[in-house]
Amino acid sequence: MRLPHATDLTGVDVALVGVPFDSGTSYRSGARLAPREIRAQSSLIRPYSYFLKVAPFDDRLVVDAGDLDVPPAGSIDHAYGVIEAGLRRIVQAGAVPIVAGGDHSISLPILRAIAEKHGPVSLVQFDSHIDTWGDYFGGRHFHGSPFRRAIEEGLIRSPQYVQVGIRGPMYGEAEDFAFQNAHGVVMIDIGAVKTDGIARTVERIRSIVRGPVYVTFDIDSVDPAFAPGTGTPEVGGLTSYEAQTLVRGLAGLDLVGCDVVEVAPQFDGPGQITSLLAANLMFELLCVIALKGRSSRG
Ligand code: MN
Ligand code: MN
Repeated sequence: MRLPHATDLTGVDVALVGVPFDSGTSYRSGARLAPREIRAQSSLIRPYSYFLKVAPFDDRLVVDAGDLDVPPAGSIDHAYGVIEAGLRRIVQAGAVPIVAGGDHSISLPILRAIAEKHGPVSLVQFDSHIDTWGDYFGGRHFHGSPFRRAIEEGLIRSPQYVQVGIRGPMYGEAEDFAFQNAHGVVMIDIGAVKTDGIARTVERIRSIVRGPVYVTFDIDSVDPAFAPGTGTPEVGGLTSYEAQTLVRGLAGLDLVGCDVVEVAPQFDGPGQITSLLAANLMFELLCVIALKGRSSRG
């Protein structure tokens, strides 16, 4: 977004930060290369949101905090420590982080830093996958388990946790849904989104969350026709316009942090359309944050 690079976060309202880590992927890796490509595509972002009537760069001090120096290999727990420390620095400085992932495993250490400051938060997850699965190849952490761990660690209030866009071939009713049903997680699958429409879906999301809200946007919630550059694509998803409109529908909520994850640039199409969409979704999230405290525009 052509923002100044800042390491001193004093007085900063919103910090955009890259987390180039993809050692939590289970299929095609590559999301570690996303921050640089999203940053490049974000150079087209202009300063005003016509739809939300906000000029976030005028209203708030927004900076590019660069990328965290995350170890790409070795222990995922070690990488998690680096990510948590980097996010803690931003959050404790009073800035709201907008994170460019990275694979979805990074949301767990981010939520640790967020919950340390705000307590357990509401969670809105845009995704084709539930990401509340359990152990994987004997390990506790990968990009399919961050929100199970977040519930176990008390970082999110599970009855105020909503998933949007879920689809794709699954493992089975019990394997996929027993854990999250037991914790009161609300799932709005892609069929419900398409049948009910965006306005009704926004209403449902807003009826579930309250208090401080974290938004995690897995780019694979969007149809691979619009966002092919991702590690585990699932056909039959959101359009890029639906994705934008859903995020705009969050205006008025108390967003305390967010991420856009799972962009894998080497699978992207001509024009880098996935990274371009990711940059635009980060702008929409920024506008929602800039509108905090103002009443909802529906
Ligand atoms: Mn995910
Ligand atoms: Mn996913």
